[in-house]
Amino acid sequence: MPDIIKILPIEVSNKIAAGEVVQRPSSVLKELLENSIDANSTRIKVIVKNAGKNLIQVIDNGDGMSKKDMHLSFLKHATSKINKIDDIFSVRSMGFRGEALAAISSISMIEMKSSKVIEDNGYAIKIDGGKIISENESNFDKGTSIKVKNIFFNVPARRNFLKSDFVELRHIMSVFNNIAISHNEIEFSFINNTEEILYLKKESLKKRIISIFGEKIREHLIPLNESTQIADLYGFILKPEYAKKSRSNQYIFVNNRSIKSQFINHSISSSFDGILKDGFYPGYFLFVNIDPGMIDVNVHPNKTEIKFEDDQNLYSIINSAVKHCLGIYQVTPVLDFEKDSSMDISYTQTKSDPNIPNIEVDSEFNPFKFFNDEIFEKHTSQLPINNIDSTFVDENKKFTKTFQIFNKYIVTKSTSSLIIINQSLAHQRILYESFLKSIFDSSSESQKLVFPIEIKLTKNQLNLFKKIESEFSSLGFNYKMSDSGLNITSVPIELENNSIEQIIDDILDHENDFDKTKNFSYSDFFAKNLSKSSSIKTGKKLDLNEQEFLVNQLFSCKEPLLSPDNQQIFITLNKNDIENKF
Ligand code: ADP
Ligand code: MG
Repeated sequence: MPDIIKILPIEVSNKIAAGEVVQRPSSVLKELLENSIDANSTRIKVIVKNAGKNLIQVIDNGDGMSKKDMHLSFLKHATSKINKIDDIFSVRSMGFRGEALAAISSISMIEMKSSKVIEDNGYAIKIDGGKIISENESNFDKGTSIKVKNIFFNVPARRNFLKSDFVELRHIMSVFNNIAISHNEIEFSFINNTEEILYLKKESLKKRIISIFGEKIREHLIPLNESTQIADLYGFILKPEYAKKSRSNQYIFVNNRSIKSQFINHSISSSFDGILKDGFYPGYFLFVNIDPGMIDVNVHPNKTEIKFEDDQNLYSIINSAVKHCLGIYQVTPVLDFEKDSSMDISYTQTKSDPNIPNIEVDSEFNPFKFFNDEIFEKHTSQLPINNIDSTFVDENKKFTKTFQIFNKYIVTKSTSSLIIINQSLAHQRILYESFLKSIFDSSSESQKLVFPIEIKLTKNQLNLFKKIESEFSSLGFNYKMSDSGLNITSVPIELENNSIEQIIDDILDHENDFDKTKNFSYSDFFAKNLSKSSSIKTGKKLDLNEQEFLVNQLFSCKEPLLSPDNQQIFITLNKNDIENKF
């Protein structure tokens, strides 16, 4: 029997490998653009003909290549970007595998010109199907031009599989947009057939997004900026009103590389829980800057998938950053920039107090027995004032104008809209943040009880209690534990007026529901449960002081928009919303 195994000729193995890197014309454009960026270009011109099927050309003003480098660049595993395997965990360049030009040249006809210096003394090389067919000195300014013609000319099966020009051009534009958004420091021009369809000068990220997607996107961009130990996040979230039925407005960049990530999508989408209708997807331009050692880009040859070392924490960080930014947006528009002056109330009207309907308000009733001016002062003096819309607060009284409806909602106003707040959810949010702060900063305040509370617990309950002891005492509970239960001598100031027995019962009941995959941490779970069981309930009448206290506290929360369980806490009705009702 003759031996049957043979090593494939290089042209064949390159063609096979090309299938992974080059699926369609847009993949060629992506690789060429990435090379131009890696070469420190500040100006890049793209020319495509017939949706890239006949020509994709990228001209840059980057570092250029020497004659020898030009020869090497088409060889497999030829790269100037890494030297050893460890380097792939520290690369900041877009490319590093050294296979794109080898793959592209094996399935197309290439003409490359390059020069490393300003004077015209470049070099030119022509390659067909991976073989050099001509080369010569050529006048070319500093930079590189690569023409990729007749993609898949020698792999007819694949050429036949290319889609219509319309579809292929859409892929090309998508690649181009991704690169242009993440490189707003570079000037781009895009020529389709002979027409320049896009010219982008060097500009800010916000302007770049507007230049690409049109002026109307401007008012929908909510800025996001969050610095953490694991990663820095920045970019823009699109307002919920701009959500689409497709995922087409979702852009994620990690270290400026456009990537696809299910878990990041999921993390962002779940920040919108309760805000978006079913079947609608939020839009975003999210940039994550992270130590390259914490990610692995080498998951697939097209480098659009990334493995994160610490994906659980990143998930939580992104999730809360997006919620935070949505929360701020709900409050800040009325502060200044989107102020609609036609809604301002005239001077004479503002001088007189608005009539507060008195049907639902019983000003004698006070479920917060602890509530008095001293405590109010203490709480409000700690509020991060810059988060509060000043129009919520009456100059003299420090209070908002509010009223309650259905014993369930508090209604208030801002400069340009009416705000309807779910009292129970608002209180949950306030308590939740306050409990979390107590647990993490050990900053609790407790109130000594005149009559200590005796709480009987079963053996089983006592064992459960031991697990939550540290969270429990960090909140401001003081107690003695015996074989039969607890003797509580002081309680957190927030809970002073509640049935402590009921709360402890609730907490112990839910103790076994703790699910690591759904909760950020045990403390978080604990704070959530406690805030739910101790919050003001629907059906409670609140007097004006209590309503105003709730409103002011809510809008000084980090995330006033969502309850700890991600339900929407308030809705706003602006002039348009109201006018549409008539
Ligand atoms: P990689 O980008 O992974 O290194 P490529 O096959 O895409 O591999 O490119 C091979 C090499 O060719 C690059 O490492 C770089 O040195 C050089 N090169 C490619 N395109 C350009 C360009 N536009 N300007 C300067 N050098 C380039
Ligand atoms: Mg490359």
